[in-house]
Amino acid sequence: MIRVRFAPSPTGYLHIGAARSALFNWLYARREGGKFLLRIEDTDLQRSTDESTRSIFEGLQWLGLDYDEEVVFQSANADQHRAAAVQLVDEDKAYRDFTPKEERGGDANVKQEIAKRARRDADEGVDHRSNPYRELPLEESKQRAADGELFAVRLKVPREGRSVFEDGVFGTQERDYAEIEDLVLLRSDGHPLYNLSVVCDDIAMQITDVIRGQDHLTNTHKQVLIYEALGAPIPRFAHLPLILAPNKGKLSKRKHGAVVSLTTYRDRGFLPEAFRNALALLGWSPEGEQEIMPLDELREKFSLKGVHHSPAVFNFSESDPRQWTDQKALWMNAEYIRTMPLDELLPALRAELKAAGLWRPEYETSEHKWFEKTINLIRERFYTLKDFSGQGRAYFADDFEFDAAAVAKNLKKEPRLKELLPGLAGQIEQAEPFNAETAEAALRHFAEAAGVKAALLINASRTALTGQAVGPSMFEVFDIIGRECSARRLRAAAEMI
Ligand code: GLU
Repeated sequence: MIRVRFAPSPTGYLHIGAARSALFNWLYARREGGKFLLRIEDTDLQRSTDESTRSIFEGLQWLGLDYDEEVVFQSANADQHRAAAVQLVDEDKAYRDFTPKEERGGDANVKQEIAKRARRDADEGVDHRSNPYRELPLEESKQRAADGELFAVRLKVPREGRSVFEDGVFGTQERDYAEIEDLVLLRSDGHPLYNLSVVCDDIAMQITDVIRGQDHLTNTHKQVLIYEALGAPIPRFAHLPLILAPNKGKLSKRKHGAVVSLTTYRDRGFLPEAFRNALALLGWSPEGEQEIMPLDELREKFSLKGVHHSPAVFNFSESDPRQWTDQKALWMNAEYIRTMPLDELLPALRAELKAAGLWRPEYETSEHKWFEKTINLIRERFYTLKDFSGQGRAYFADDFEFDAAAVAKNLKKEPRLKELLPGLAGQIEQAEPFNAETAEAALRHFAEAAGVKAALLINASRTALTGQAVGPSMFEVFDIIGRECSARRLRAAAEMI
């Protein structure tokens, strides 16, 4: 049976790249009838936080990605990881490195220098595995450890040959062993390092397929060596293309802030259905042209074959707030908002209106018809749930804000509106019965009698009634806002002129 896992490090908010890995793993498992497991890689004690772990749980829940079995916390398995390292030493597949800490390069600069040297040696075809402890007889190594000498444990990477594995996306991957250092498995303070911990846990969790970001490709060569040393079956690997910023640079929390954090999308009015759909298309395409795909359909269509080799670009603008996020994701959210059956949209809508103090229980009972008509009218132009309480506030409350540019253009530019709007209010009050048609007739009639263009009154009414410069058909808006309220707002707007 297929068993995959999502293995985030809880060292910050859940990155959209990580969320995409979670989604692809989930789709893969669910499509194949396999298991999707969650492992929190909290071994970096300094950088791991509970808050970040919470954001992982919340993010998965928001996206609707349920996991099987108990969550695994990697830090709880450190003893097993250490035992595996000891076993490898005993089997002569790893060795104790007694190099004093300062020479081993605890600090970053020294480490960098050593890595540089290793790379250079590799380029020149020199065997850099000249660590004097690599060939220390096991008895002596044991004795020195027993005498209390500090040591790190390093894997004995073969001196000759190539590491080869088949990647489910990128195909055959090869690397000379000469390019791979004798990697540290255990630090001298006994702390197991990332590659060892991941492999031990993946073995223990019986993971059959490792699907993760392309940034782990080089680790995979090292991890394959660890599987081999431990004599464990090697899972299939598939690496996902990176998600880049518009300038093709790395998409990072530090540089790009909230746009990379999954919770931003929840908090800024994305529907999880829409964001999930958009995430799925970052680096993957189904066969065919279709882009709007609910979860069931994504699950049916998902396959590693459709995963791209080239990076995906998250297309947003750092300078234009209207393009604060990927434009396709935003478009997709608008599509979902526009086309979702109202009863499916309702929970998110209710939550949004409630949070803004705009919800009335009557919207689900006596005023349901009005509510439905209103939502159907206004959602045509909305991009996020926030638009319902933002631009859409005037439909639910009197204390809405006026867009300054709309006021300048539609109200203040024409002084005659100071008299015209109260006149129009009077006409509106007399329309009987009151609906879109009679409101239109009243307005057109009034415009003709006053000798002004209907458009002047239509635009002024739009700003007077909704605070906006654009919106749905104005006569529908009159109908929705209602006779009295429309008249009141027209008179109030005249006061602003
Ligand atoms: N914890 C790693 C990360 O967040 C992922 C490890 C893996 O998927 O193998 O990048």
